[in-house]
Amino acid sequence: MANFGHVYLIGAGPGDPGLLTLRGKDILEKADVVVYDRLVSPAILGMCNSKAKMVDVGKMPTHHKVKQSEINKLLVQYAQEYPQGIIARLKGGDPFVFGRGGEEALELVAAGVEFDVVPGITSAISVPAYAGIPVSHRGIATSFHIITGHEKAESNGELSLDFENLANCQGTLIFLMGIANMDFIAKRLMECGKAPKTPLAFIEKGTTPYQRTVMATLETAGETIVRENVTAPAITIMGGVVELGKTLAWKKNLPLSGKRLVVTRAAKQASGIIARLTALGAEVIETPMIETRAVEGSFNWADLANFDVLAFTSTNGVESFFTQLLTSGNDIRVLAGKKIASVGKITEKKLLEYGIRCDYVPEDHTGEGLGKLLRDVVDKGEGVILGPGAESGINSERSSESKDLIESRILLLQGNLADDTMLKLLPQATRWVVYETLPVAELPEWKREAVESADAIVFASTSAVENFCSVILSGVRSTESKDLNRDSSTTPNGFAQNDNNACYPRKSFCIGRMTESAAQKHGFETVTSDETTMDSLVKKIVEFYT
Ligand code: SAH
Repeated sequence: MANFGHVYLIGAGPGDPGLLTLRGKDILEKADVVVYDRLVSPAILGMCNSKAKMVDVGKMPTHHKVKQSEINKLLVQYAQEYPQGIIARLKGGDPFVFGRGGEEALELVAAGVEFDVVPGITSAISVPAYAGIPVSHRGIATSFHIITGHEKAESNGELSLDFENLANCQGTLIFLMGIANMDFIAKRLMECGKAPKTPLAFIEKGTTPYQRTVMATLETAGETIVRENVTAPAITIMGGVVELGKTLAWKKNLPLSGKRLVVTRAAKQASGIIARLTALGAEVIETPMIETRAVEGSFNWADLANFDVLAFTSTNGVESFFTQLLTSGNDIRVLAGKKIASVGKITEKKLLEYGIRCDYVPEDHTGEGLGKLLRDVVDKGEGVILGPGAESGINSERSSESKDLIESRILLLQGNLADDTMLKLLPQATRWVVYETLPVAELPEWKREAVESADAIVFASTSAVENFCSVILSGVRSTESKDLNRDSSTTPNGFAQNDNNACYPRKSFCIGRMTESAAQKHGFETVTSDETTMDSLVKKIVEFYT
């Protein structure tokens, strides 16, 4: 057999990323190439190996982006290009339920490419389940039938459905891809004898934060679609079981349901806020704008003895410092007797994870606040101990030399982008750059698209604002995505747009006043948290949308 990569036909499930199978996730994390469809959620694309080549063959409702025959060929081509590789073909729902997975598999067999099928949870069953509608129910429906509402017969171009048979069928009827033809389908079913009062539900964007259920009957199907503007992707479910949905609809409308929020925190730090916003119903697009990296091997740890106060200005600083301290063969005993200062509550909490309590935390949680607080400590000389190596004799009378000495025993542990605010207030202090912040250079296409359609951006730092703007504004939109019909400066949805036609939401939620002013400088509308904590920011976001 030729030396080909292995293709996995993977079902991504109906939308909720939690409904992807463990096996599917495992393969996506290792994939070299991911060939994906339109209905796959950004959260699942975000799980893919960050180095994988991401190929969008998604089909827009109006124009086919990549023809099925081309997709089939593409899979074979990637299997040839990546001889030892893993090629993931990621499809909405289950690959073999109206997913054309069978056609792709036939092509792979013909070319001698080996493949696995990783089944997914089909929308046909899971979407009704999320609307509280069981597809079968004792005494109501003893079978269910999954039908395409889309397939046309080659002979006459009409829907290739056996309406007589379907009308006589006592089981639950579930139509996929049928919204555009549903008026016709409903009429034909009634002509063939199906009761006009048969209950029916349209479920739009099921299992996602945008899920909506619209109830109707067979005779009101067509007019309901128009009146309620039911749009794809949606399934139509018909039969007595639909009535159960009125009692069993369990999915609550949450405060942030239907909101797509971009979180610009670095992935490592963002998990808390992402989990909270998701639990509140939002769809969160994780878009870290910066990556942080510990600056390794650049300190002489013995020098720590020269300092009495260690000041941390971020959780990154704490993590980098302790990671390096431990890898250097030291442990926290080298900090015995030292005073610890933190810029704010989040950093304070991080220090506690390493078993360290803070002695100094400023009220206003800024670098300036911390600088002033330490300045005060130096001036008053209170609480400062001078460890071994320091000269003695600075007790009651504080000469400027003794103040300088105390001040020189302060160590600032900061990132490479920290400004000089603290050093200006404490010129005798020493700064160690314990981590570096590097901007993310570009966004993958799928993420850019997700960002463009978001409701708002969450910014946690000025550098995130700056990097977001430079990354987003540098991108030139492809002609295909330009047909968004947005005007030159502000779009109907409140989207800003630049000369390159990059579009992004204008609304932003900011943590801290500095971040707020950076966002305003770039033309964002801002809503800012009262305190510089994630709790406060989440509270503000909920308040804004409810
Ligand atoms: N293989 C997929 C179906 C692909 S056909 C599966 O097993 O689910 C695409 C159709 O699936 C859409 O037109 C719509 O009818 C249905 N569909 C997919 N995801 C859906 C969702 N989240 N909510 C409602 N319908 C969905």
